[in-house]
Amino acid sequence: NEALHLQLEVTRYGKDEALVIVRDITRLHNLEQMRRDFVANVSHELRTPLTVIAGYLETLQNSDMAPPAWRRPLVQMEEQAARMTTLVNDLLLLARLETSERKTGDVSVDVRELMERVAREARSFSGDRHQVSVACEGDCSIRGDASELHSAFANLALNAVKYSPGNGEIQLRWWQDNDGGHFSVRDQGIGIDSLHIPRLTERFYRVDPGRSRDSGGTGLGLAIVKHVLLRHGAEMSVHSVPAQGSTFTLHFPSTKLEESPSRELMETE
Ligand code: ADP
Repeated sequence: NEALHLQLEVTRYGKDEALVIVRDITRLHNLEQMRRDFVANVSHELRTPLTVIAGYLETLQNSDMAPPAWRRPLVQMEEQAARMTTLVNDLLLLARLETSERKTGDVSVDVRELMERVAREARSFSGDRHQVSVACEGDCSIRGDASELHSAFANLALNAVKYSPGNGEIQLRWWQDNDGGHFSVRDQGIGIDSLHIPRLTERFYRVDPGRSRDSGGTGLGLAIVKHVLLRHGAEMSVHSVPAQGSTFTLHFPSTKLEESPSRELMETE
């Protein structure tokens, strides 16, 4: 009674002939589903114990009960508990994003407001070491899921801070053209060697694992961005020069196309 998942591959030979290969991928699909459910369940189960541990650690730190020699270990334990909480939250978000290929919400999002919010978060994350500028040209709105778009924009902006040691300028830009809306984050940081670029959105792929962990990275940020983009029919391009900086650009399809009557008709049919 279980749904069957088939994959079709069509190769055309001239005008009248075609080779059609039908693959039964039900087993693979179910295994993938089990993997996703497992990760989501484990992450969910880890949340409660983590909240309790973090809570008691905070109480101990703020009380006089802990002897002075415990101060440093307590700070480290609290930092690690916070790291684990971020990791668990990122795993849960990724599992949720992977369950469907369509965005959850579909509202008009004010991109300028979103960018201002992300810029404030980036400045606070950097301890005001970096200058974060925001520029919005043309129609500063997009249709999509507000919370998912925030995750994608914020991940790119926080990465720009994390991978720009010292200080430096970070530019957040939005513009529209005939192809659609584009959001870019430009930094003057360490840059990325071109050989790593195709693998950046893989889960836990890091160019320099030590640096990523030290800066609080979970290795899931760009995987989250990728899934948000998939759900919005969008794509990402990366331009980077080692030791000079990187520009990550998100390309969203034209909103006007999404709102056209023919598209709406197709969706209701
Ligand atoms: P992480 O949590 O490690 O930052 P991400 O998935 O967000 O994980 O990014 C994957 C890797 O891509 C990072 O570990 C880092 O090596 C590289 N990276 C991402 N953004 C930048 C950037 N703006 N500049 C340089 N390297 C970057």
